[in-house]
Amino acid sequence: MTDTATQVLDPQAVLDGVPTGLWIGGESVPATGGATFTVIDPATEESLTEVADATVEDAKRALDVAAGVAGDWAATPPRERGEILRRAFELVAERADDLAMLMTLELGRALPDSLAETKYGNEFLRWFAEEAVRIDGRFTHSPAGTGRILVTHGPVGPCLAITPWNFPLAMGTRKIGPALAAGNVMLVKPAHETPLTMLALAEIFAEAGLPGGVLSVLPTMNAKEVSSAIITDDRIRKISFTGSTPVGRNLLGQAAERVQRTSMELGGNAPFLVFDDADVDKAVDGAFLAKMRNGGEACTAANRFLVQAGVAEEFTTKLTEKMAAVRLGAGYEDGVTLGPLVSAAQRDKVAEAVESAVAHGGRVRLGGKVPEGKGFFYPATVVDGVDPYAPVTRGEIFGPVAVVSTFDSEDEAIKAANSTEYGLAAYFFSRDLDRAMRVASRLDAGMVGVNRGVISDVAAPFGGVKQSGIGREGGAEGIDEYLTVKYVALT
Ligand code: ADP
Repeated sequence: MTDTATQVLDPQAVLDGVPTGLWIGGESVPATGGATFTVIDPATEESLTEVADATVEDAKRALDVAAGVAGDWAATPPRERGEILRRAFELVAERADDLAMLMTLELGRALPDSLAETKYGNEFLRWFAEEAVRIDGRFTHSPAGTGRILVTHGPVGPCLAITPWNFPLAMGTRKIGPALAAGNVMLVKPAHETPLTMLALAEIFAEAGLPGGVLSVLPTMNAKEVSSAIITDDRIRKISFTGSTPVGRNLLGQAAERVQRTSMELGGNAPFLVFDDADVDKAVDGAFLAKMRNGGEACTAANRFLVQAGVAEEFTTKLTEKMAAVRLGAGYEDGVTLGPLVSAAQRDKVAEAVESAVAHGGRVRLGGKVPEGKGFFYPATVVDGVDPYAPVTRGEIFGPVAVVSTFDSEDEAIKAANSTEYGLAAYFFSRDLDRAMRVASRLDAGMVGVNRGVISDVAAPFGGVKQSGIGREGGAEGIDEYLTVKYVALT
């Protein structure tokens, strides 16, 4: 594994190595009727390859196969389950360069970000390989002296994972790792923009010794129908989703019909606060990471910069300089640090956000124009002087655009920070310990970064409050989402 691409990989050779059928029963198979859809290179808008397009019938087939092996997998010794996960971890590490190239091809973002994801995403396989043998229970006595209480934790049952395009590997491993470690079978429906990484991962799992049927992958252009066909089957006991809040709400509604367990990692709208007492240079470094990691296409991305008046101009000038040094281009080109956005729709959404910021008094300090030519490119952009309650601050930008507002008092900043329906991540910079403790507790967010611009960590519980979701991924909490509790009353 390398930190930066040390060898020039042939993109075609990487693509040729990936199975493009549905992954069912431990092998790559065509969709019923043979339908396929096209995966696009966002840098050229050209076709990369065709991938099998799963139908409702295929979903049922995958579910039958999964249900058929669920009992055997649950009965497989935890150590064996853990060792399969561990072997998958080793294989992903060995093939990190290829997987990174694959992610950059289908997602567009710069290769260094893809390499970083191979490491981050793979850590979930290692972590849950270790957790597989630490699924415990408890024992206690009835206070009345009338009996003994044994509590066991077992697999929740067959799971459906629906994953987004922005982290094609990590959003899968964060769900597959704990599901399999806990003894569950899982069906994965990846985003149609980025199905190849998940198919490559499924093949790696097979090589690692995972029995056929335990993990299935169903790429499809019919997300709604295929997912609903799976969710409306009583055998599915758990739905784990990462994506937008509207789709999450819809899935929660469907899950309610059969009282299925859910984990929902939904939208974010992270505020990034810089107080007058912050180390401004460190705040700028943190801001750059929080904004530009993954080209801004992250639900934890800083979406609104709220900067105290005394340091606002210095912070914005320095952030603008740093953003100006970004190199825009095809993600797989040497030296490029900002690739295209994943789709035309996404690029247009980002452009509209900037227009809206400007229409509400924002001043473009950098970027702000869609470049001519092919590819879904949008440049690094800074807009300041934006009202902290302007429409642009209400939704997710999901692109390389920093929107800066100023504030005077801490109360004012907290009020603005907490003023959305979201509550995933929040960040702030301050050197005052009292303030740090106070602000960390007052921010309505599932995750708070203090003097840090990146917070994702395999050992930490990732998740949100309010309409950013339910449940946590990673950490000791991550496996609980895939376990069910049984109480056995003993004499
Ligand atoms: P994004 O805006 O990031 O594309 P989405 O929530 O639309 O977020 O997509 C996240 C995942 O949810 C993708 O795998 C997508 O195919 C899937 N998806 C989108 N709409 C539905 C739906 N109605 N039912 C089930 N899955 C869906």
